[in-house]
Amino acid sequence: MALLQGKVAVVTGGTRGIGLAIVKAFLKEGASVALFGSRPETAEKAVAALKAENADYPVIGLSPDVTDYASVEKAMAEVKEKFGRIDILANNAGISAREPIYEYDPAAFQKIIDLNVNAVFYCTKAVAPIMKAQGGGSVINTSSMVSLYGQPSGCGYPASKFAVNGLTKSLARELGKDNIRVNAVLPGVTRTDMVAALPEAMVARIAATIPLGRVGEPEEVANAFVFLASDMASYVTGALLSVDGATEV
Ligand code: NAD
Repeated sequence: MALLQGKVAVVTGGTRGIGLAIVKAFLKEGASVALFGSRPETAEKAVAALKAENADYPVIGLSPDVTDYASVEKAMAEVKEKFGRIDILANNAGISAREPIYEYDPAAFQKIIDLNVNAVFYCTKAVAPIMKAQGGGSVINTSSMVSLYGQPSGCGYPASKFAVNGLTKSLARELGKDNIRVNAVLPGVTRTDMVAALPEAMVARIAATIPLGRVGEPEEVANAFVFLASDMASYVTGALLSVDGATEV
């Protein structure tokens, strides 16, 4: 039987990259999925592409402002109305940063915290009562390998992912009694649009520093989400699962 048969999932930032790979993997494993995008057009486009692949996929697209709690609460209620329950939340939407601190605009720092940290808190806060009432659920956060090491510029990005790990560890302890598991996946460099835009020679240089000798594929990150979302991970909570080819920084 498919690993996620009968389960309902919400995936934020599900329109492209790692998020879209998570949506596809969840659908293939039998889940119904609500993907969240930042704009209605991109959410609709992603749903249309998935339906073109398989017209029977139970997938809808919404575009709440995930940095606004009222908007998130309304979207989660819509998903529950449509599919009857919410078993899985993948907090995946995120942006990165490269600015040296000397040039770092405080507004840009605030923006990254709003999306990478506050939205994780808001989405989890909004689904937790729904999951509790159902008898449990699984929350999976997209962190990053830089949440372990930091990075030499754009400090807002690793700072936000350290905070994601903190939310993961703390909420795992708090929500265990409600059978809600909370875990994080820590991808290394993964071949999304961001990496595809880099010159091949630069990607090759990065790959040479990775013990597995290559960058990761979005589908490989998505597989970790499937495991953590499934009942195969029924005793796994508070885990920070690296999917980075043993990248060392
Ligand atoms: P991406 O840019 O391809 O996708 C980002 C997703 O986030 C998109 O679906 C987009 O709609 C959504 N998003 C962006 N701004 C938003 C906003 N303001 N409101 C709502 N949604 C918004 O990036 P990706 O590489 O697929 O990254 C996905 C996650 O993986 C992020 O949390 C990122 O930090 C993390 N990550 C990526 C890599 C990598 O190498 N690609 C490595 C480690 C961690």
